[in-house]
Amino acid sequence: MITFEGLGLDERLVKATSALGYINPTTIQEKAIPVLLSGTTDFIGLAQTGTGKTAAFGLPLLQLIKPTDKYPQALIVCPTRELCMQIVNEMESFKKHMTGINLVAVYGGTPIGGQIREIKRGVQIVVATPGRLIDLIERKAINLDQIKYVVLDEADEMLNMGFQDDIEFILKNTPLRESTWLFSATMPTEIKKVSKKYMKDPKEVQVGKVNTGNKDIDHQYFVVSAQHRYDALKRLIDFNPGMYGIIFTRTKLDAQDIAEKLTREGYDIDALHGDLTQAQRDKVMGQFRDKTLQLLIATDVAARGIDVQGITHVINFELPDDMEVYTHRSGRTGRAGKTGVCMSIIHSRETFRLRQIERLIQAPFHKMEIPTGKDVCRKQFFYFMDKLLQTDISHGNYETYVPMLEEKFADISKEDILKRVAAMEFDRFLKYYDNAEDLNIRDDKRTRVSPMREGAGRDQARTRDTRGREFAGTGNYTKLFVNLGTKDGFYKASFLQYILDLSEIKKESLGRIDMKEMNSWIEIDKSSANKMIKALDGKTYKGRRIRMNDASSR
Ligand code: AMP
Repeated sequence: MITFEGLGLDERLVKATSALGYINPTTIQEKAIPVLLSGTTDFIGLAQTGTGKTAAFGLPLLQLIKPTDKYPQALIVCPTRELCMQIVNEMESFKKHMTGINLVAVYGGTPIGGQIREIKRGVQIVVATPGRLIDLIERKAINLDQIKYVVLDEADEMLNMGFQDDIEFILKNTPLRESTWLFSATMPTEIKKVSKKYMKDPKEVQVGKVNTGNKDIDHQYFVVSAQHRYDALKRLIDFNPGMYGIIFTRTKLDAQDIAEKLTREGYDIDALHGDLTQAQRDKVMGQFRDKTLQLLIATDVAARGIDVQGITHVINFELPDDMEVYTHRSGRTGRAGKTGVCMSIIHSRETFRLRQIERLIQAPFHKMEIPTGKDVCRKQFFYFMDKLLQTDISHGNYETYVPMLEEKFADISKEDILKRVAAMEFDRFLKYYDNAEDLNIRDDKRTRVSPMREGAGRDQARTRDTRGREFAGTGNYTKLFVNLGTKDGFYKASFLQYILDLSEIKKESLGRIDMKEMNSWIEIDKSSANKMIKALDGKTYKGRRIRMNDASSR
C-alpha cells in the first residue's frame, strides 16, 4: 500500500495529513506528488474536483519553497474567491508543523488595501484569482519576478469564464518560472494551446477518463411538461426528506424566484447568484455549510468553486446549455468516497441531449418517475416515524412527566395519539398532495394535440383548450416580438417548447406563432404577455441576448 511517506514527503507534512484523517494518498496524489517534488517538471493533471488535487499540488509546494526567503515563490491561480479561500485553508492545515511559511489569498470583491498589506508582510505562496492578481501586478503591489512554481487550478473553468488572456499575461510575467502545473477536469483545445505555448514537455496524468463524471453519482432524469417544472422540483424535494442539496438554474431570475416561492412555502432554502454582495454571499454560504439551510439554489457562475462536503443531491431545474457544465454541477455530489444523486428535470424534447451527456460523462442516465402525491406522503410519513423511533430519550428526566402524561391521555387510545402526531406533522403534505396530479409525461399525454398545433389563432376564431373550455381566439391577444428565429435552429414546435419552458406559461395562453429567419411574432393572451417578456427579455440563447417586447409598442 502506498503511503504519503513513500511518495517522498517531509515528515511534518505526513504528520499533518494523518491529522486530517488522510490514510492513503488518492490516485492523483500518488501520481503527481513524486513528479512535482522534483520542482522542475511541467505537469498536467486531468482530474475532477473531489479527487484530492489540492493536496496533490499543495503538499509538494510547501516542501519546495524556502521559508527563509520572504518573497513570493509560488503562485496558485484559480477561478473564484471561494476556491482561493478553500485552497488557503487546506494549505494552512498542511503546514501546521512547519514554521516561517506565509500564504495569502487575493481575490476580487473585497478591498485591495488589506491584501496589499498581507503581501508586504513577506509571503511565499500567493493564491489568486486572475483579475485581482493582474490588478496587483499593474499597481506594482506584487512582484512575480522570483516565482518558481505556477499552478493553474481548474484551468477549464478559468477559460470558460473568459480568463484566457489574463492567464497568458500571468505566465508571461513569471520569467523565472521553473515549472508549471495545470489541473483541469476537461481538456478543451484552448487548454491544449496554452500548454503548448507555455509548458515544456509536460508530464500528463489522467485520473479516470477525461470528461468522465464520478462513478459514485447516480444520474437520474424526470420528464415533465414546462408548466410542471416547479411542482416537479417540489415533489422531488418532498420525496427525499433528508436531502442536503444544490439546485441549479440557468438564470439568476429563476434562482431568485424559486427560492422566494419555496421559502414562502416553508422550505429552508436560499439563492446564490451574481447580484448578491460579497457579504450576502458569505452569509448564504455560511448557513448552507452549517446546514441551517437544507437547500441552496444557484446559477452556475455563482456556484463556481464551492466545495461543500456531504451534498446528497444535485438537481438540475433545467439542463445547462453547455454539456460540460453538467459535469461540474453533478460533481458537487458523490465526493470523497460518498455516493450522490444528480437529478435533471427535463422536457421530452431534451432527451436527445441526455444521450450526448451520457457519452461525455460515460455513465448512464436512469429514467425515473416523478413520485405521486401518495408516494410522497408515504415517504414523509416513514421518515418522520423513523425519526420518532430513533429519538434519544435516555437523557433528560422524562420519567417524572410520565404520570402526568398518562393522566392527560388516559381516555385516548394509542392509535389515536399516533394519528394526532401524524396529523400535526403531515397536515401540510396531506392537504397539498390530496388528489395531486400525475406530473409525468406519458406517451398518451405527449401525443395529445394542443389547440396551438391545430392552428388556432386569428384565423380559427374560437377553439378549445385541453380541458374543453372555449376561449376567444381574438380580442384578448396581444402580439410579442422576439429576435429569435429559424436561423437559431428552431422549428415551430421546438420554439414553442422553448418559450413555454422559460416562461412557465401554459400553451393554452398562446395563439399563432409567426417565425421568420431572424425574428418571430407570438400571439399571447394579454394577461400573460408581461410574464412572457419578463421571462425571456435579457436572457441569452447560445450566447446571444434575447430581446422581447410588445410588437404593438415598437
Ligand atoms: P479536492 O479535490 O482537493 O477538492 O479534495 C476533495 C476532498 O477530499 C477534500 O475535502 C479533501 O480534504 C479530501 N481529501 C484529499 N486528499 C485525501 C486523502 N488522501 N484521503 C482522504 N481525503 C482526502
